[in-house]
Amino acid sequence: MTKPSKNPADDIIYISLMDLQNQTDKNIAPKTLPIWVRYMELILNGTRHAGNVQLTSNLTIITSQADIMYLQQVVEYLEETPASHIEAYLWLSTIEELVLHTSSAMRLLHSEYMRVAIGTEGSTPRSLYCANGVNSLFGMAVSYVLADEEFTRDKLPRVERMLSDIRRSFDRLVKSTSWMDAATKRRTIQKSAEMKSFIGFPSWLRNASVLNAYYEGAEVNVSTHLENLMDFVHWQMMEKLNEMDKPEPIGWATSPSNVNAFHTFQSNAITVPIAILQYPFYDLGLEALNYGSIGTILGHELTHGFDDSGRRFDRFGNMVEWWSNQTIDEYINRTECFVEQYSRYHLADIDEYIDGELTLGENIADNGGMREAFYAYRLYVKEVGRERAKLPGLEHYSHEQLFFISFGNLWCETYTPAASRYALSDSHCPGQMRLRGVLSNSEEFARTFKCPTGSAMNPSQPKCRIW
Ligand SMILES: [Zn+2]
Repeated sequence: MTKPSKNPADDIIYISLMDLQNQTDKNIAPKTLPIWVRYMELILNGTRHAGNVQLTSNLTIITSQADIMYLQQVVEYLEETPASHIEAYLWLSTIEELVLHTSSAMRLLHSEYMRVAIGTEGSTPRSLYCANGVNSLFGMAVSYVLADEEFTRDKLPRVERMLSDIRRSFDRLVKSTSWMDAATKRRTIQKSAEMKSFIGFPSWLRNASVLNAYYEGAEVNVSTHLENLMDFVHWQMMEKLNEMDKPEPIGWATSPSNVNAFHTFQSNAITVPIAILQYPFYDLGLEALNYGSIGTILGHELTHGFDDSGRRFDRFGNMVEWWSNQTIDEYINRTECFVEQYSRYHLADIDEYIDGELTLGENIADNGGMREAFYAYRLYVKEVGRERAKLPGLEHYSHEQLFFISFGNLWCETYTPAASRYALSDSHCPGQMRLRGVLSNSEEFARTFKCPTGSAMNPSQPKCRIW
């Protein structure tokens, strides 16, 4: 059995519906379970592609070796399982999806089930759950209230300046590396220069008629909550399927109300919603604190374009080789240092170790992002001037020390054992490890806080570093 690669980009394949059918019949040969054409017909039902036999039979699917192996097992299972069991499973999945939208008694049962099954404590209040649902389905509509002119006038230019400082310091770090050849450096800097950024909210959001057109066809009725949910998801899917034969437009990866930031490899773009551009990530009163917080997040997103997955996509977002072989070898060598470092981190509460390979891309982004933001702050000070204000109560800290304190504050969190177990399968490490990993790799941190060599945060073994 071939081991599927940990890096999803490694084993992406394009396959016709016919070949997929042949592949998934493998485990049950000489029998066959012809499902894929029928499945696509059902999926496309109601779209403008419905009944287009030519299109359906010529479809190419993007999948992976790992997914095909999974589908082979699914087909094997479907073939030997009574239809009534499969139907029961489908209904159970439906209930699981919808149960939190039903009665309080059902919600209590579900929370009891989760407690027994995975050890979670308590549950999200219905008001919060519903608000989250509205935000995730109607994000752009919710964001309408956030889209104010003041942001565009005051904050946007400041955030753009910060991003430009970060890009400049990334470029400098690339130029100063010893392991990249000149041509690869040039192409890397070109990709960073052409990386698009979506910051705050799309300008059309302030135009109510454009916003209404955006949701045209989606119907909501005040007395039919469950139908609203299902109809909306259906409408959303229809919109996507109708456009499936066109290139995906380059645009916002999320709605502006999302407290997060994103990198999209296929568009060479980052999205920084207005919701994360506020306290406690931004508006911290000192640029030292802002660069240590949102600055490191901007750096993180930029660096994703050059992590172990992102480096495979060129400046147009196409997955082609655009680095020299020697630089790729040097890069992989350096990533191994990170894999080993993070795999040594132990979660004492559940006695498990971090998966250094699963978290590699995020760790590369964290390490690069922090260093870029640190030098970006120096650029800021050089060009705008030293900040005079001190932080009340913490006057004895320098501004560069405050930068790191702000970075530390970003990842301050606590976990129950159930949450720790859940976090193990996430591509991000728990905050404590993100902090330890980045700071113990940072010469800049060790110098700023005068950590002696061999101390916990400045270990004597070689530091992992790509940029
Ligand atoms: Zn990330």
